[in-house]
Amino acid sequence: MNIYLPHLASRKPPVLTVDIEENFANLPSLTPIRGQVTVSHRGSFLEIKGHAQTITSLTCHRCLGQYNHRLEADIDEIVWLKAVDKAMEDELEDLDEHLAEDGTLEVHDLVYQHLSLNLPFQNICAPSCAGILPAQTDVLEASNLSDSLDQRWEALKKLKQD
Ligand SMILES: [Zn+2]
Repeated sequence: MNIYLPHLASRKPPVLTVDIEENFANLPSLTPIRGQVTVSHRGSFLEIKGHAQTITSLTCHRCLGQYNHRLEADIDEIVWLKAVDKAMEDELEDLDEHLAEDGTLEVHDLVYQHLSLNLPFQNICAPSCAGILPAQTDVLEASNLSDSLDQRWEALKKLKQD
């Protein structure tokens, strides 16, 4: 899923469409990641358009239960290309937003980044999720365990008896 840019530039027309249907090791999902990405070489930049989707399994931040989440990403991005010698001179940080003319576009990585950005900030299984309810039994068990250790539980025990 890597596109070597000089190859793309030499195509007539210089456009390549990549179909994706696979599992990404770094993005656990219930279904393969499906999508399509079209990369057009426009001389000084790449025009990248596409779409990807999958079903991920997330852990609810409120109740800690697992739930399925439909994850989608629309890709519409411009990546500027740099002349080979110029890319060599520039700072490393610049290379994130630019690609060298003779570089390689990693489609897998691009799709992964777009999907990751669309992961929810807060994982909530449902708007009505009540979270973890304080379980009454836990309190009772704790009181039994602590009977001999902590006299304060005596008061609680007395209340229950009353
Ligand atoms: Zn929940």
